[in-house]
Amino acid sequence: MLGTGILKGMVETARNFVGSYTDEARLTTVEYPEERIPLKEATRQFPFLVFDGDDAQKGMRCVACQICEKECPPQCIFIVKSKDKRTDYKGQLQFYPATFDIDISVCMSCQICVEVCPFESIKMDTEFELSNTDRFGALLLNKHQLAKSNEHYREIHPTDAAESDAVIAAEKAKAEAKAKADIEAKAKAAAEAKAKAELPAATVPVPPASGQV
Ligand code: SF4
Ligand code: SF4
Repeated sequence: MLGTGILKGMVETARNFVGSYTDEARLTTVEYPEERIPLKEATRQFPFLVFDGDDAQKGMRCVACQICEKECPPQCIFIVKSKDKRTDYKGQLQFYPATFDIDISVCMSCQICVEVCPFESIKMDTEFELSNTDRFGALLLNKHQLAKSNEHYREIHPTDAAESDAVIAAEKAKAEAKAKADIEAKAKAAAEAKAKAELPAATVPVPPASGQV
């Protein structure tokens, strides 16, 4: 019958129209910013610097090796290494960043800095509400603005953070085992030296007097 197709099409349109208001699975938009869709674990925006413990600066894992600065494709990381050293999470003396800036107006969220960092120090954040009227100053983040706790990392990327924690725990255990072995070796060497020094004079061989055969 003439017009049946048109009628069927209109019914389908009406069904979709009503469904888009009532079917939970088809409500694809939310009333942002009041309502927010939970972010996926793989979400990444801009990098942040991880710190352990309560002190953001003292607990910062970064040792200012500058690998990320060299590898960053748009060269938006700027690091100045400290003059002194401080103890890191493995108990080893390390440099730290006196300055660590990232220009997030240039950063392209490629995550290369994260991939190349050997110290689990720099990770990708999920924060995206960073719009600002100051193009230059406000988007150049310093180390104080970049520092975020390991708890924050665990919250936004639980799977990656667990892997990262395991790597650090293994490194820490290795460093502790090495330190213990070093202490034991030094103690053993000292004990041997002491025992040698305390040997009775009679046990020390006397060289023959001149002229004697
Ligand atoms: S995410 Fe990419 S562009 Fe951004 S700071 Fe890291 S290496 Fe540079
Ligand atoms: S974030 Fe990592 S790669 Fe970059 S300077 Fe610090 S320790 Fe080195």
